Amino acid sequence: SPTHHTKMEKQIKAHCLVLPYPAQGHINPMIQFSKLLEHQGVKITLITTRSYSKNLLKVPPSIALETISDGYDQGGLTEAGSYKAYLERFNQVGAETLTELLEKLEHVDCLIYDAFFPWALDVAKRLGIVAASYLTQNMAVNNIYYHVHLGKLRAPLTDHETSLPMLPTLQHEDMPSFFFTYAEDPTLFDFVVGQFSNIHKADWILCNTFYDLDKEIINLFMEIWPKFRSIGPNIPSMLLDKRFEGDQDYEVTQFKSDKCMEWLDCKPKGSVVYVSFGSLATFDEKQMEEVAFCLRENSSYFLWVVRASEENKLPKNFEKISEKGLIVTWCSQPKVLAHKAIGCFVTHCGWNSTLETLCLGVPTIAIPCWSDQSTNAKLMKDVWKIGIKAPFDDNKIVQQKVLKHCIEEVMESERGKKMKNNALQWKTLAGKAISDGGRKEAGSVNTYLDRFGQVG
Ligand code: UDP
Repeated sequence: SPTHHTKMEKQIKAHCLVLPYPAQGHINPMIQFSKLLEHQGVKITLITTRSYSKNLLKVPPSIALETISDGYDQGGLTEAGSYKAYLERFNQVGAETLTELLEKLEHVDCLIYDAFFPWALDVAKRLGIVAASYLTQNMAVNNIYYHVHLGKLRAPLTDHETSLPMLPTLQHEDMPSFFFTYAEDPTLFDFVVGQFSNIHKADWILCNTFYDLDKEIINLFMEIWPKFRSIGPNIPSMLLDKRFEGDQDYEVTQFKSDKCMEWLDCKPKGSVVYVSFGSLATFDEKQMEEVAFCLRENSSYFLWVVRASEENKLPKNFEKISEKGLIVTWCSQPKVLAHKAIGCFVTHCGWNSTLETLCLGVPTIAIPCWSDQSTNAKLMKDVWKIGIKAPFDDNKIVQQKVLKHCIEEVMESERGKKMKNNALQWKTLAGKAISDGGRKEAGSVNTYLDRFGQVG
């Protein structure tokens, strides 16, 4: 029968290896993309480092897991002690152990590698394997680093303002933090710019965004690299277009999710402030205290993710569970953002959190910490217009009163309502991008996936 025939065809489709940088903000979107490929019949093997694999609590059963070495098999970055030591060794040992793995596995058609690892592309090319580069950061940030790669922009910055094609004028506070740490240690700056060193050799260049969100830069990048595709938003489909039943979560995590949905279920619509600064950011005690006292004094309910490693910075005797607020060490963020009780999101503006909140219609208050977050915050505020940025004081702290004022503005003011409406419009466009593939010429998700299933 035709159905049977289709099934048979699916079974002999490609085997893709997926290699994210070992951090939640890279694994999540790449796993979500992998799930889309799986639905096309592609077999997926996730590759992570030996040190990181020890922390993985949950991997979907259909996805195979293999490991390579970053050179620090016991403790990864912590064992290395610095990004410099970690990345230098990872470049070398990673390439060697990836080569061994690719030679060991019998049938591999394609490697989807995190653009953070340009060496993975060299390995794939040497072995004659199709390679797709997956850019995990936002297009504006990619555009900035690409211009550095071209030699058109430098660190440290000499001008107060940066003007680049397709971007609003950026002040220092809007630029990625690595421009400012460059003089002291260029490691991370060189690392992120390195994404573009050999990218023109990739068979595909993928970015977790969608056409309506980043039109101009997508058009620009497609002119430069005809194999560029916007394949996002890579977030669970049950929260957007409901295509794949049960798909509500990222499923690959190093943290244990708390059960906070029941608590949210009892709260009125739009009444809860959700606060999370992602999987890596660390705050000093003073900032934690300002956030804690603001949430306690403010009139709204709150749900706050404080990772286990940060818990000791909470003010002494601060209540973790009350009618008013709940502190958890981790949650399923997409599910939380999709919950009707959430009224706003106080976020560090990691790209995944930014995209998730946009796609799930939640307005924001940005407290960017480092890396690309200040650029994401700028776009969130001035281009996509779904939130505000909390002003820092001279010590780079957002004070309790200031944050309280921001929360009231987003949750209660007329301006806040506009942000909510804008967020809801982005949600509609995100759903459209996923379900009909957005604009065809931008490389729609669906037509692209269809062809991707045939590689090899
Ligand atoms: N996340 C989560 N639960 C939490 C906090 C974060 O599931 O309690 C997820 C979040 O949905 C996002 C990722 O972890 O997908 C964090 O990535 P992001 O780029 O926002 O920030 P990073 O952790 O890289 O700084």
